[in-house]
Order: sequence, then structure tokens, then C-alpha cells
Amino acid sequence: MKKIKIDDIRSVVKEAYEKVKTMQGGKNANYIPFLAKIDPQLFGIALCLPTGEVIEAGDTNYVFGIESVSKVYTAVLVLRQYGADEILNKIGADATGLPFNSIMAILLEKDHPSTPLVNAGAISADSMVKPLGDSNGKWGAIADNMTALSGSTLVLLDELYKSETATNFNNRSIAWLLKNYGRIYDDPDMSLDLYTRQCSMGVTAKQLAIAGCTIANGGLNPVTKEQVFKEELSPKITSLIATVGFYEHTGDWLYNSGIPAKSGVGGGVLGVMPGAFGIAAFAPPLDEFGNSVKAQAAIKYITQKLGLNIFRNNNIDFEM
Ligand code: GLN
Repeated sequence: MKKIKIDDIRSVVKEAYEKVKTMQGGKNANYIPFLAKIDPQLFGIALCLPTGEVIEAGDTNYVFGIESVSKVYTAVLVLRQYGADEILNKIGADATGLPFNSIMAILLEKDHPSTPLVNAGAISADSMVKPLGDSNGKWGAIADNMTALSGSTLVLLDELYKSETATNFNNRSIAWLLKNYGRIYDDPDMSLDLYTRQCSMGVTAKQLAIAGCTIANGGLNPVTKEQVFKEELSPKITSLIATVGFYEHTGDWLYNSGIPAKSGVGGGVLGVMPGAFGIAAFAPPLDEFGNSVKAQAAIKYITQKLGLNIFRNNNIDFEM
């Protein structure tokens, strides 16, 4: 069993913040006008422990667009509502190896959106959210699930929602293409709107870290102490994150960092170290694949410094 001092984690988070703060490189997402305007200097790191303690550095209370990290939340919601097998059958759990908004991936997989953590699978997941046919009811379920995972309410960034709605032509094509393949289980336009709205939620790095820790902690929110989902779903959601969290660069990310993590074009990244902690970092400039440059560097630094890696020896003590 590995022993780690909480004080060491506090120092490593601070160190990561200082080291990465001045790092250059990357550009804000510019295909969603709202995101292009966000201050590129913003940067924060939050790490939440199963005790509920959140270790923070920098802009951890700044509210930014959750974007694709919201896919993790809705995946949890449909896993709660339908169970692991039905999600595998209706959406899938495979990596696409292609960008997050790929239409090619849908065509290649024919009738399968692959995973709830790319745009196609996320729109499909939104179509599955119960109560079916009831946009307000579905939105209520999505927002309540976000609150439960993060331990506090996320607020809709109205300007971001309008900005995305006015420019989401590619996602509209995805919704209707999936409808063609029988992978939209409710009204396609409604499902797309719910997806656009969930991506436009405002979140803080602190809220993301708490959600990450709820997943790392077998569904028990460490702050509110609410059991949000059944423990058995925890490895399912973590495996989805591990498989496709950085899209076509997920393999490189896992190889280098050893921690399943999910990025969003708002600049946020949420990481899950099972049994240990949830971690989030936020900084708007992205690399060419849509992943925050500083958030990746910070999370990688922290897990490496702490010597944690999900692929390491589990130190099992066999009994004869
Ligand atoms: N709302 C964004 C989109 O659909 C989310 C993409 C992302 O964060 N990777 O394009």
C-alpha cells in the first residue's frame, strides 16, 4: 500500500501551479465566439480528496464553460437511469480515434455513436435521458445530476448558450445523421438543444474536482456525503474517460500521465484517480486537438510527482 502525506499533495499542487503558470502555447477555442473572448491568462488547479478537502491554487472559483466535460456528467446520468449494459448496447464504449466532432466516425461505425464522451454519443445520451419527450423534465434531470456530482449548482452561461446555438451546424448534422441510423431515442432537435445547453453550463475547477472525486470515490460525493450513483458504475464511467477523454490523443495522454481525464474546449480538464482523488485544472488556451495546454501540464506534473498511475502494480497481498 502506498502512503502519501496530505501535506505533500498540498505542496505538489502549489508547485505545479507555479511551474505551469507562465507556460506559453495554445489558443482559445475560436469556433465558438464566446470562448474566443475569455482571458487566456486564467489558470487554476483543484484537487479533491475523499475526505472532502479541496486543495486549490489559482483561479479555482472562476466560472467557465464546461463544454465537453459535461459529457461525463450526462454519461453518469444515463448509466444511472439505464444501467451499464444498455448504455453499451445503445451507444457503445469504444474510442473513435477521431476528433470529438467527427462525422466520419459515425459513418465508419455505421450505426454506432461509439461512446457517450464524443459529440455523437453525447447527443445520443441526451436523447435517452428520462423523462422521454419532455424537454423541461429532461433538462431538470441533467442539471440535478450535475449538482449532485459537483455538490453545488452549475449555472447556465446564457451568452455561451446563444453563441453555440448560433454556430452549431456540425452538431446539427450529427444529430440528424444519428437519427438516420436509429441512434437518437427522442426528438433530434430537442436532443441537440439539451446537448448545447449542457455544454454551456458554467463550472469552476473546484466543482469539477469534486465531481471527479465522486467518481474516484465509488459514487459517494465526498463533500455532501450523498451516494450519487451505485459503486459498480464507477469503473464504467472511469473506463469511458480513459478510452476517449482526449479524443484522438487519448493514448498518448494515458501513456504519459497514467490518469484517466476528460477535456473540454472551454479549457477545463477533469481527472479521476480511482480511490485517491479527483483533480481539475482550467486554462483557456488549447492545443491543436482542443485540449488545454496548461491543464494537461499541471495534471501530469501532479500525478507524476506523487508517483500515481492507474497502470502501476496494485501491490496485492496474495493469501495462500
Ligand atoms: N460544445 C462543444 C462542441 O460541441 C464541445 C466540444 C468540446 O469541448 N470538445 O463542439
